[in-house]
Amino acid sequence: MDRQQEFVLRTIEERDVRFVRLWFSDVVGALKSVALAPAEVEGAFAEGLGFDGSSIEGLSRVFESDMLLKPDPSSFQILPWRSEDEPTARMFCDILTPDQEAAVGDPRYVLRRQLDAAAQMGFTCYTHPEIEFYLLESDEMDSSGRPVPADRSGYFDHITGSVAQDLRRHTVNMLEAVGISVEFSHNEVGPGQNEIDLRYADALTTADNILTFRTIAKEVALAHGKYATFMPKPFSEHPGSAMHTHFSLFEGDTNAFFSPNAEFNLSNTARQFIAGILTHAPEFTAVTNQFVNSYKRLWGGGEAPSHVSWGHNNRSALIRVPLYKPTKGGSARVEFRGIDSAANPYLAYAMVIGAGLKGIQEGYELPEHVTEDVWSLTTAERKVLGLKPLPGTLHDAIRQMEDSELVASVLGEQVFENLLRNKRQEWDEYRVNVSPFEVNTYLGMV
Ligand code: GLU
Ligand code: MG
Ligand code: MG
Repeated sequence: MDRQQEFVLRTIEERDVRFVRLWFSDVVGALKSVALAPAEVEGAFAEGLGFDGSSIEGLSRVFESDMLLKPDPSSFQILPWRSEDEPTARMFCDILTPDQEAAVGDPRYVLRRQLDAAAQMGFTCYTHPEIEFYLLESDEMDSSGRPVPADRSGYFDHITGSVAQDLRRHTVNMLEAVGISVEFSHNEVGPGQNEIDLRYADALTTADNILTFRTIAKEVALAHGKYATFMPKPFSEHPGSAMHTHFSLFEGDTNAFFSPNAEFNLSNTARQFIAGILTHAPEFTAVTNQFVNSYKRLWGGGEAPSHVSWGHNNRSALIRVPLYKPTKGGSARVEFRGIDSAANPYLAYAMVIGAGLKGIQEGYELPEHVTEDVWSLTTAERKVLGLKPLPGTLHDAIRQMEDSELVASVLGEQVFENLLRNKRQEWDEYRVNVSPFEVNTYLGMV
């Protein structure tokens, strides 16, 4: 047993922890959890905990369903929202086959593989997510079938007694209590829309943190009679919820994206990394924007990207290079604005990093940055600038992903096939559904 495992067992005893939840993710990023009695933890460290992998979306096939959960002791935390009398802890898990090999269907392993590939090239990858979400009165709709925002914060600057402010404070406190540092939190543009930005961490920790974040935001909202949703676009007329993520590669302590005399202080490595993402973004959009609803955000204005472009401090671009702050000496990062808040962070980060690394390996050339507001250009103007659209629907995104060698190799054949199957099924259900828009538009017209 290693020292981290010993520390976990000791803490369980000292704090009298009654339940240890083992957490992992399915193929769409839904959090899965199984509660373990404290006495079973040692065995789970040694041999893993057996479970039926075929009952988890996208994990394994029925004829090879036995899987093992192997808790990662570095992720041990006591959960602050459970009662003091029955302390409950959690650990994220890696999924193994019965032969103790990494399970190829485990999203955490998909990300680990890309981070190992980065490490082979000498890089550590850091990420800083800005998570947007809506606070609603409940998960019920009003009489016209619309969700009800918890406040009107987007419309008015000063709100006394704003619920959102209190809920954000509780959420931030709870995140800090499980070791997740928060940088900023504020009201976003939409009514009831909020944003909480986590401090940068290595990409695997960030992905774990995002799953924890979603759970905590939902728990806090529920405890106050509200509902938190990460749905990409809950309202037609208000902005969607993005999960902008800042990426940077480090070589030891040195930021490999920074070059003091280069344009925008971007090193060649950074330029190639950006070029990799831009080149492959349409192929992997089905991963970073995985739901039918995701595409209502990408085409609905509201500061969301719709075309493949990069810019320096240009918010209409898919990739934004933030203003260089001399006080932050030697730092450079790249903000990818495509991902939405409902993405599976393991797979989405694996794709962005995989595409960026490909750009570095192959020495991709970065096209010109855009200074124009991409949203207000005409189709012809975009053509002249060579700005390709992102997929317009989940169907379009699936079609582009199906042909992508890069997506297949980053996800691995099994996750690639499972995700495609899951997405095709979603599209098939959606396409036969007659929406209120259609009934309202056509019933009286024809
Ligand atoms: N909510 C916007 C989106 O869906 C992003 C707003 C922002 O720039 O922070 O992309
Ligand atoms: Mg924002
Ligand atoms: Mg941002």
